[in-house]
This record gives sequence, C-alpha cells and structure tokens, in this order.
Amino acid sequence: MAACPIWRKSPEPAYEWERVAPFILANPKCAHCMGTGRFRGRGKQVCYCVWYSIFRACFNKWLCIQREPRTLSTVSLDRFGEGRSRCFTYGRKREEYSADFVLVSRRTLFDNPLRSAIFELHFLGGAGWRECCRALRMDRGSFYHEVYRIEVQLGKVFRTLRPYALHPVEEYFGLRRVDSAGKAFRKEL
Ligand SMILES: [Zn+2]
Repeated sequence: MAACPIWRKSPEPAYEWERVAPFILANPKCAHCMGTGRFRGRGKQVCYCVWYSIFRACFNKWLCIQREPRTLSTVSLDRFGEGRSRCFTYGRKREEYSADFVLVSRRTLFDNPLRSAIFELHFLGGAGWRECCRALRMDRGSFYHEVYRIEVQLGKVFRTLRPYALHPVEEYFGLRRVDSAGKAFRKEL
C-alpha cells in the first residue's frame, strides 16, 4: 500500500534548501539564474529550472519503474529513528513511489482540467505533442508552455511534500539518510 503523504504548504523550504543547494540542480545555461539556481535580484527565490530538474528526476524514476519487469519487485526493510526509539517497517518502495508520483500529481493538478488532461495524455500515457494537440485542440506552442508549467508546479510539490518528499529519489528509497543535523550518510542496515 502506498504511503499517504500529507502536503503541507511550504513555498520556501529554507532548511531544505540550505542542505541541498539549488545550484547543484540548476541549468548552467538558464537565462533567469545564470546557473545559480536562484532568480537574479529576487533574494533566495528558487529558479524555475531547479523545479524543472526535480520533476524530471522524479518522472524518470517513475518511468524506470514502469519499464521494469513486475517480477523484480522486492520488499524492503526500512529503519526509522535512532537508539532505543529505533523501529523497522516493511514496504514495496517501487510500488509506493509509483503510486505517490501519480496520486500527488493528480491531486495537485486537479483544479486545472487542461493541465490534468496533458498530464494524463503526455506524461502518463506517453502521447506525443501532435496527438495531445489534436485531442485537446491546442497549438504546439501553447502545449509546451503548459508542459513546462506542469513540470515546474509538480517539481515544487515533489520537493516540499511532507512527510515523504519524492525528491531526492535516493532518500525516498532509503539509499541515503539524513540525521537531525542535516548531515547525509549512507544507509546501513
Ligand atoms: Zn534557472
């Protein structure tokens, strides 16, 4: 059963961004931030290219899961807490991630029928821009503008989702854990 994430509105997750510097995810050729990950002249506001990069990482992981043979699914053991408060839980991480990706996206885009339709057709269904434009009766430019807005909108949600953010992907899958001081370390079970 997929984890049931609670989306807390957190437009400026300062703590998270101190730990994961936006410039690592920024596009070096971005005209808005010049590869710094923050808009020029707007303080610490994170650039669109960073959210786009986050969405792409999550979407590529979802695609990989869809293309894997079903028989590869395994049960993973996860550890929570430290010391005497430590506990373990079992789960099917691939299935949970896949379900979270789809459900969170649908919930986020729910109040925008056009973006919801593009997400279903283009991202989940794999339809190309010609098929989408024909089905939705829109031109190519408008289609890609909406695609970009969807990617930015969802990238922001994937990164700020609580308690289980979909990004960074390796943290979701427990391959990297972060202690209370924000220091990352490898999973050791
Ligand atoms: Zn940028």
